[in-house]
Amino acid sequence: MTVALAIVERDDVEAAIEAVIDAGRYASARHWVPATSGNFSVRIDARRVAITRSGADKGALTPSDILIQALDAPLLPGSSAEAALHLRQYADNPDIGAIFHIHGPSSTVIGHAHLAEGAVHLNGWELQKALLGVTTHAATVEVPVFANEQNIDALSHRIAARLAEPITAPQIRAPGYLLAGHGLYAWGRTPRDATRHLEALEALFNQMIVFRSYRP
Ligand SMILES: [Zn+2]
Repeated sequence: MTVALAIVERDDVEAAIEAVIDAGRYASARHWVPATSGNFSVRIDARRVAITRSGADKGALTPSDILIQALDAPLLPGSSAEAALHLRQYADNPDIGAIFHIHGPSSTVIGHAHLAEGAVHLNGWELQKALLGVTTHAATVEVPVFANEQNIDALSHRIAARLAEPITAPQIRAPGYLLAGHGLYAWGRTPRDATRHLEALEALFNQMIVFRSYRP
């Protein structure tokens, strides 16, 4: 019994590490994580996640680039400062199974452009249906925007407080937020959901940029 449990345990850790490596490669291929930016994490169980260490090329991650971090423990040596943002969200929301962060060009620009409003509102785009809970292009989807901040503790508190606020129906809050001039955080119940949300949001922001610059 002990041996069987140990095998299951190792498989869960290995599966999470593999999912982090896959997500990094996927994002790198799309030029969303330039110059070792971004960070990627996948939940192992109720109390641990697998998360990228600081400074790793996300397109060439190996298992040695992934830390096994307990949610209630101090950040491990080699952690990215932004790892604290991941840990707080996992601790606050047991349904989150993966959190991916990119410095995608469209996310970074749109966050900067909408900082004063504190949110981007998506409406009228078919692709917004790729986001959890959105069933029509006619829905209004709010993506919160936060000022960028090097004090990650302060930022983490601001984000947690905002995400805990109820949203007024019929608006729907996206499974993601923007840091102005910095990038996008997106999450999901599984790594596959988080990847879809990441890709949909980055593409939607690109569509907004193209739409606003188009002059017939
Ligand atoms: Zn970042």
